[in-house]
Order: sequence, then structure tokens, then C-alpha cells
Amino acid sequence: SIPILTIDGPSGTGKGTLMQLLAERLGWHALDSGALYRALGLAAARQGLDLDDPQALIPLATALPVEFQARRVLLSGEDVTDTIRTEEAGLAASRVAAHPGVRAALLDRQRHFARLPGLVADGRDLGTVVFPQARLKIFLDASPEVRAERRYKQLKEKGLNANLARLVADIRERDARDRSRPVAPLCPAEDAVLVDSTQMSIAEVLDRVLEEVRR
Ligand code: C5P
Repeated sequence: SIPILTIDGPSGTGKGTLMQLLAERLGWHALDSGALYRALGLAAARQGLDLDDPQALIPLATALPVEFQARRVLLSGEDVTDTIRTEEAGLAASRVAAHPGVRAALLDRQRHFARLPGLVADGRDLGTVVFPQARLKIFLDASPEVRAERRYKQLKEKGLNANLARLVADIRERDARDRSRPVAPLCPAEDAVLVDSTQMSIAEVLDRVLEEVRR
């Protein structure tokens, strides 16, 4: 069977960075499932679809012309890697992700990423719904304050305006929504390894997870 390693957790915990580092280190394929939801949100918004209407979104989700190439995300051949990273795209992603039919329409597409020699996949429900058979499941968490600080630094580095108190409040609100939504609520799989990165560097988190991989 194809070895699969899943990384789930709230936003801003460093899942994406960890996923890329692990994929490089192990020589495995990578799946950034959030990018799929973000690309869908962007495509839907561009087509003027109602993000709260699953009937309009499901056909688009099923036939979404998205491709991953060398860490770039292409939508109908257009490089949208940076466009899908904005807060606006994140918000659109979480709206389209709230519909069970949309999530179901993206299941097979995600499962097709499982290829030899292995897959590292990150998101919210990869260990619980998409790959329940995964060999190793990591649930990566960190305090809202630390996640807000990391985001604050990223924004400042890009020369963008940021307000730390506001970021903490936004993260708390998004957490509450993600954990309480009726469909695919954010919670660790029963057999997940919990890693709290509040006091850890990314290198320490990587070592910790590689230790689990070698077990
Ligand atoms: O991980 P990322 O921030 O890119 O995800 C964007 C949004 O997509 C999340 O806020 C979440 O609502 C949704 N998402 C999801 N399930 C996943 C990945 C992302 O619902 N597996």
C-alpha cells in the first residue's frame, strides 16, 4: 500500500511549511488541500457564482481546471499561486468548504494524489475523512497568540499593514467556526499524534515528526 502521512490543524500552525519539508526529506509527493479550496473559491468568485449555493459550486468543484506544477498552482493554466494566498481568497475558500457536496466533489481528486513512493498531505480533514487509512497522522496546533505573531511577521515582511490584536481576534473567531461547523469540523483523528508547536521552531517540529516516521 502507498504510505501516506497527513498533517491537519488550524491555520497558521506551519502545516504547509512542515508538509513541504517532509515531502522533500522523504522524497514523497505533496498535497496542499487548502490550495484546492482556495482555487475553487477564486474560480467561483471570478465566475460570479454565489459562494453559499452548493448547487452552483458542485459542478465547478467536480471539473475544476486546477493543476499543481513544481509548487505552483495553475487555474486554467494561469499561475494563481500568489492570488490564492490573500485573506480574501482564504475567506472564499472557507465559505465554499462549508458545503458537504463541495467537499464530496473534491474527495476523489485529493485521493488521486496518493502515489508511490508516498504522499504528505495537509489540511483540516485529511486524517479523518480523506485518508483514514494513513500510516501516520499529525495534528499540529499552536496557541492563537503565537499563530497571530507568525502571521504578523509574514505581513510585515511583505511590507503590508498588520494589527496584532486584530489578528489574534480573527484567529480565535476562525478557530471557533472551524471547530463547530457541522461538516468536517476541525478535530484530531483518534489515532493522530498531537504536536503543539507553540514553543517549537519549525526545525524542531520536523525532527519530532521524522522521529514518528522512523518508528
Ligand atoms: O489551509 P488553508 O488556510 O489554505 O485553507 C483555506 C480554507 O480552506 C480553510 O480555512 C478551510 O476552511 C478550508 N479547508 C478545508 N479542508 C481542508 C483544507 C482547507 O475545509 N482539507
